[in-house]
Amino acid sequence: MKVLVINSGSSSLKYQLLNMENEAVMATGLVERIGETMGAVKHEANPDTDAEKKVSREEAVPDHKTAMHMVVDMITDAEVGVIASTSEIDAVGHRVLQGGEDFTKPCVVTPEIKDAIRANIPIGPLHNPANLMGIEVAEELFENVPQVAVFDTEFHQTMPKKAFLYPLPYEMYTELRVRRYGFHGTSHKYITKQAAKQLGKAKDDVNLITIHLGNGCSMAAVKNGKCVDTTMGLTPLEGLMMGTRSGDIDPSICAYVAEQKGMTPKEIDNMLNKQSGLKGVCGLNDMRDIHSAVDNGNEQARLALDMFVYRIKKYVGAFAAVVGNLDAIVFTAGIGENDDIVRQEVCEGLEGLGIVIDTERNAGRVKKAKAIGSDDGRVAIWVIPTNEELEIAQESLEVLGK
Ligand code: ADP
Repeated sequence: MKVLVINSGSSSLKYQLLNMENEAVMATGLVERIGETMGAVKHEANPDTDAEKKVSREEAVPDHKTAMHMVVDMITDAEVGVIASTSEIDAVGHRVLQGGEDFTKPCVVTPEIKDAIRANIPIGPLHNPANLMGIEVAEELFENVPQVAVFDTEFHQTMPKKAFLYPLPYEMYTELRVRRYGFHGTSHKYITKQAAKQLGKAKDDVNLITIHLGNGCSMAAVKNGKCVDTTMGLTPLEGLMMGTRSGDIDPSICAYVAEQKGMTPKEIDNMLNKQSGLKGVCGLNDMRDIHSAVDNGNEQARLALDMFVYRIKKYVGAFAAVVGNLDAIVFTAGIGENDDIVRQEVCEGLEGLGIVIDTERNAGRVKKAKAIGSDDGRVAIWVIPTNEELEIAQESLEVLGK
């Protein structure tokens, strides 16, 4: 069984071809800057093996259709390809950002499903149009291959009303669908399944806080294997401080800043999404650069790091209260997997909650699931590498009954 996983963004197209017999990545890559004067194409066949082959070139990519053709050409190429023809692909799995309240599980794409994705564009304006375009181009190119949509919001659809509603006039919800949806669902779901396995518990039995720290950051409160709360909201802007996103702020700031600076709603939105977070405070958004700056005595970088850690810690406390009997907290994604300093600082001072980190076990980057808690702790602490592509591929086959 071979599954092609597609993540189609507004100006990029990421892909991964997986062999599901052994869950190996056959090929992975990225077409970037679609629609700009000059684009970029990266492709890796058989990554991390002796047969690894890489392609990296600059080339204009006018649209998503051209990008998808490039992907097909590369994966079937005589030199750098990994399959003879696209007929070897059993399913194409698409990451779709906003499933709204319509989707609680992955779906085989039909005209009705595409209509539902389209109907969610108002609440996913930056991603759903590009996701839909990816699906339509793939339908054209992989004519007889089933297409599956997997939604980033799905895992969070189990949140109770008291957690997902904003205390706004109720018609904001009924008329405009303003509520908390949560994102990174595929990652939180994958981590929940993996954590249950590691803890030797049934998936429906685990109580967790999952902490996804990448460029975007979010946490989920998981009770009996189901999401009961998460940090992101109507959009991926709410919650934790992120690379360039503010996370939680007093909403009145928007009106105040707009009046003082004469900024439009679009400019405010851009500021909160692109110019805030770690970048807003210290000018840097890559955590590795922030650590180097801290090592060089940069006080603003130290402040940004302190704020980043403090806000995660606050949510650990909040979600510990929401979940109750915690089995484990789990770190994942770029920062969660690689940054022992952030993990250490988040856990420091949480001993009262039964969360006690073991400095030696925590040291270094983590490539495979690892327990990093002290034997004195009541709550386990794990680092589990996320794998959203594998989760999408598995769910795609599952929904197809393959
Ligand atoms: P995305 O949300 O784009 O999938 P990733 O999960 O790849 O992001 O995470 C990107 C983040 O991970 C960046 O802030 C980067 O600095 C951080 N990161 C990657 N490697 C390391 C490392 N060795 N130490 C600290 N942070 C790291």
